[in-house]
Amino acid sequence: MSTALFVSPHLDDVAFSCGGTLAALKAKGWTVGLITVFTRSVPEPRGFALRCQTAKGLGPEVDYMALRREEDQAFAKRLGVDILAWGDLEEAPHRGYASAEALFQPPRVDDAIEASVARCLRPVLWELKPDRVFVPQALGSHVDHVHVVRAVRGLGIASNRVFYYRDTPYAVRQPDAKPDAALPRGLRPLAVDITEHLMTKVEGCLCYGTQLGFQFGGAEGVARMLHAFHRREAEAHGRTGAAEVFLTEGVG
Ligand SMILES: [Zn+2]
Repeated sequence: MSTALFVSPHLDDVAFSCGGTLAALKAKGWTVGLITVFTRSVPEPRGFALRCQTAKGLGPEVDYMALRREEDQAFAKRLGVDILAWGDLEEAPHRGYASAEALFQPPRVDDAIEASVARCLRPVLWELKPDRVFVPQALGSHVDHVHVVRAVRGLGIASNRVFYYRDTPYAVRQPDAKPDAALPRGLRPLAVDITEHLMTKVEGCLCYGTQLGFQFGGAEGVARMLHAFHRREAEAHGRTGAAEVFLTEGVG
């Protein structure tokens, strides 16, 4: 029995970026694990951290992260994720990144979260011994995504088992965005056909209701954006249908 581990910085990145591949592996009988790194509830958020939730129509009294963990559970149930794990680390707005602009700057020197990211991934890797590990490229350079890429580099995973996904919808909004410099050299693109699984991907993405307005302009935008994007991704690699594209040393 083969096993895949999907690593998500936030509660939604795997669904939006490679939910089709997750569904495809599941349909082939793989065991699938999903770990999200930055999931901790922070009581009485203030300033920018509070604005991140009130901008989504959620009052200060709402436990925003608890709501998002529930969305993650709904996704896991919908897609048949076998092992669901949360890293219980604080998102960047709770670590001193005080504006939207600050989230997309290189990590601050006083932000030592990378070691904690490695600590939360290690036991899951040890337990699952996954044949494939899916991690972000950090397209768009969100500081939390950058920390995950850099932490993964130090975990000693065999390089042919690592598949770097295209952070979506950053890849839609910034088609020329480059992967983080921490990715190894000499990786090749691998297009995975998700034509048969695109509907499942869309349904999975719809589980993350709090994020859809911000990321897709509303629930009705999800199918439209993903259908168009994954068709373009397939065409860019000489394919028809819909594809998710990874960078890897491994083979499909
Ligand atoms: Zn993210």
